[in-house]
Amino acid sequence: MKATLPLRSFSASCRSQVRPTPTKSLRAKNTQTTQSSRRWNSSTSSGNAFWTTSRALVLATVVGAGAYAAASRSSASRSSASRSSASAVAVTKTAAATAKEPTYGDIRQFEKAIAELRAELGEDAISTDNDDLHAHGYSEWSTVNAERLPVAIAYPKSTEEVSKIAKVCHKYRMPMVPYSGGSSLEANFSAPYGGMTIDFAFMDKILEVHADDMDVVVQPSIPWMQLNSDLASTGLFFPVDPGPSAKIGGMVGTNCSGTNAVRYGTMKDWVINLTVVLADGRIIKTRRRPRKTSAGYNLTGMFVGSEGTLGIVTEITLKLAPIPDELRVGVVTFPTVRDAAAAAMQVIRKSIPVQAMEIMDEVQMNVINRAGGTGRTWREEPTLFFKFSGTTAQVADSIQNTKKIAQDNKSTSFEFAKDDQEAHALWSARKESLWSNLALRPEEGEVWSTDVAVPLSRLPDIIGAFLPT
Ligand SMILES: Cc1cc2nc3c(=O)[nH]c(=O)nc-3n(C[C@H](O)[C@H](O)[C@H](O)COP(=O)(O)OP(=O)(O)OC[C@H]3O[C@@H](n4cnc5c(N)ncnc54)[C@H](O)[C@@H]3O)c2cc1C
Repeated sequence: MKATLPLRSFSASCRSQVRPTPTKSLRAKNTQTTQSSRRWNSSTSSGNAFWTTSRALVLATVVGAGAYAAASRSSASRSSASRSSASAVAVTKTAAATAKEPTYGDIRQFEKAIAELRAELGEDAISTDNDDLHAHGYSEWSTVNAERLPVAIAYPKSTEEVSKIAKVCHKYRMPMVPYSGGSSLEANFSAPYGGMTIDFAFMDKILEVHADDMDVVVQPSIPWMQLNSDLASTGLFFPVDPGPSAKIGGMVGTNCSGTNAVRYGTMKDWVINLTVVLADGRIIKTRRRPRKTSAGYNLTGMFVGSEGTLGIVTEITLKLAPIPDELRVGVVTFPTVRDAAAAAMQVIRKSIPVQAMEIMDEVQMNVINRAGGTGRTWREEPTLFFKFSGTTAQVADSIQNTKKIAQDNKSTSFEFAKDDQEAHALWSARKESLWSNLALRPEEGEVWSTDVAVPLSRLPDIIGAFLPT
């Protein structure tokens, strides 16, 4: 399992002892979703003047008291922040010093594990191609990256194959790191001790749909967006919506949220049971399909959010929600981000049942306009996006109450997307804004993305603190 203790050095020469073998057909499958969602034409970028060192870009998903933020900063400001985080690491190390350090096998043992797994699962089941190792051990949009790459990538096709991989890795003390969509933002799938990354690209099926029970059984590599388009005819959907390229296995790993979390909660609220392969290859199921929660240990809850460190999830039963009768997307502008954040906080405080609420500053609205995907030009002012959903009467009621709060916080406009297509384009532009930001960053620029969390009442303060004065 992925360990959390300090890195031990692993030289490039060690890594190169494992010879790359061409397994292109396998590799092509998983990297494509992420790569294609990153493609965005930056030709409209007017150069670096738009981006200054002090200009922080805040994308906040307001979920109760939490904000999901991505900031683009210069490398200079980044290195000073790295220094301050080093002291925090030092404190953690002291606490960890009393724990026993894991000991892993050396490169010769890893090579034996790879050979044994190739003999058992087929030559193509394990890749040591350099590009493949890089694609699974490094992320351009991650705030941090480990200094090492995985030594090999396994591509299992079933729970039984995952179990075989775990047994062999356990025997040779080779660390294992599960990998699904690769969209996590904080080095979650990096391999600081080298080892075996397990990519579920070939375990991407919906296994069972129980429309009457409102649940579905899936494999870890099904993307949540694909799941929803496959479920559309049932009148049900899966509401947790993190990065567009995220897949269910990784969403379990991170206990992700998303823009809909304000109404539907986070991943932990939607997982009924899991099939998990433990570090030594044993296979367990955390509970059965009926929704009884009070019998026995909450093993499901233990694995959700454990980032692959407690077990490898190979099958997931998820709850589903009815698709709401009506959905409207509202766009409200404010004179300052602080006003927008204050309005957002009051909407939560008054329990207005909005489905989603997103805050964008004027820079981000400019990015959306420049990306051009929504078919119209939006006001470049601090903005709240809302999704209102439910019955027609519920939607009308939520809009009326939200309008009142917006006016009380000096809103300058309140518009609606004119139809479903425009609403969808607008929301997609928001969800994919990370790629737009990447395309627009200056030459030496880096993207920082992270979560910040404060008590609800401090939301306007923290969002205000990110902005240039
Ligand atoms: C544009 C963009 C917007 C985003 N918005 C949000 C947001 O609003 N809210 C949010 O929470 N996140 C957001 N994210 C982050 C990301 O989408 C989520 O963290 C998501 O849950 C990761 O899923 P993944 O399939 O990409 O997982 P990966 O990145 O592949 O893995 C994530 C973690 O789960 C582990 N893991 C993967 N598969 C398994 C498995 N089968 N069994 C056990 N562990 C496993 C990995 O080891 C890793 O620790 C966003 C990302 C992007 C790029």
